[in-house]
Amino acid sequence: MHHAGFEVVVFEKVRQFQRLGDSLGLGENAFLLLDRWSPFLRDRLIEIGNKSEFMQIRRWHDGKLLAQQPLMDMAGYIGHRGDYHTGFLQAVAEKGIPVHMGTEVIDYDDSTPSVTLKNGERHFADIVIAVDGIKSRARELVLGFDDKPKSSGYACFRAFFDGNKLKGDPVTAEFVENECVNIWIGKDMHCVQNTLRGGDEFNWIITHKDSADIKESWSQPGDMEEVRRLVTTLDPRIARAIRKTDECLDWKICYRDPIPTWVSKNHKVALIGDCCHPHLPTSAQGASQATESAAVLAQCLLLAGKDNVPLATRVYEKIRFPRVRRAQTNGEDLRDRWHSALDKVNEGEEIDPSSLLIRNAVLYDYDAEADTRKRWPEMSALVSEELRTGNITPLC
Ligand SMILES: Cc1cc2nc3c(=O)[nH]c(=O)nc-3n(C[C@H](O)[C@H](O)[C@H](O)COP(=O)(O)OP(=O)(O)OC[C@H]3O[C@@H](n4cnc5c(N)ncnc54)[C@H](O)[C@@H]3O)c2cc1C
Repeated sequence: MHHAGFEVVVFEKVRQFQRLGDSLGLGENAFLLLDRWSPFLRDRLIEIGNKSEFMQIRRWHDGKLLAQQPLMDMAGYIGHRGDYHTGFLQAVAEKGIPVHMGTEVIDYDDSTPSVTLKNGERHFADIVIAVDGIKSRARELVLGFDDKPKSSGYACFRAFFDGNKLKGDPVTAEFVENECVNIWIGKDMHCVQNTLRGGDEFNWIITHKDSADIKESWSQPGDMEEVRRLVTTLDPRIARAIRKTDECLDWKICYRDPIPTWVSKNHKVALIGDCCHPHLPTSAQGASQATESAAVLAQCLLLAGKDNVPLATRVYEKIRFPRVRRAQTNGEDLRDRWHSALDKVNEGEEIDPSSLLIRNAVLYDYDAEADTRKRWPEMSALVSEELRTGNITPLC
């Protein structure tokens, strides 16, 4: 938004950002935009990401190599969420964009676009853009009802810790001595392992069946006894590394059906990111798609002009929806392919390596800003007509 020439003010609930979460993938589709908005940001982010050339896909119980894929075709650069976050914040600070920390938005007004903060202040703008994550308050305003999360039927145990813990042990040292990304696929579960900060940190994530009651949280402690039980059948090398973990998080992977609109009734509150298009971890595109959405909305506002926010927001959601669905369904497809791969073959039979590959490369060669400019004449004509008749076609 700032790059497109708009004045931006950010309100953020937490008082201080911390290095939360663990590995997150950023694809070329996001890097292209980030670099345009802040020269050299790309280099700075690549520098702090995992630099493995390939990732290996292995059989759950013995680690047999089933397929190998260039990391750039798969998740892009994998780095610690907190490190990437710090990189973004630095770029924002360099531009002088005000970020008001410790300011929780408790209400959104769609008719005179504004937000009300917990401290009672009300702030007005031409448009309110809600990027308030998976537990979004703004989504309720836009939808008119509380869209409760559904269980996806899976949960992740996830941990990251000091790589030195594994370095002295000949069985586990290989996972931290060089940058690496490995995936073990089993029946209805998979384990992802990667290094962070050049092997100084070690990250594992086990996705497994889970029917427990849903509590969506990035900070729920996991039961290491249950993890140890899960890894009894896992490749002994990685199982040994996982057993050395002191603590982990239990992250229920919740699901939300696609929603029929990302824009409020009066068209002046728009949603971006996890609040309207959350992704499964296997999509490896959550942050990248949020970045694309920001690019498209900013271009639409530029093209429509400040006095025509409704045209901009309605074109934005129409351009974004099908592309986001593709990234989301890629993640679902991959999870299902991995979790059922071993069903199809008897022990000893070969699995077609191409059936295990992550098919994200098709998403990378895309310039969200250029695509928006190209499609603007057609899409703005369509939306102008919808706004004239008051008949906005739902996204789904
Ligand atoms: C703590 C945490 C850990 C995560 N860890 C991982 C991970 O390890 N791997 C991974 O792939 N993804 C992780 N994610 C998700 C990933 O960050 C997102 O998919 C991606 O950044 C795009 O999301 P977003 O910007 O839409 O939302 P988020 O990254 O969730 O950001 C939303 C922001 O809005 C703020 N906010 C929420 N409500 C309000 C309000 N009412 N008023 C003001 N501010 C508000 C939040 O504090 C937060 O800073 C994590 C998210 C969080 C919040």
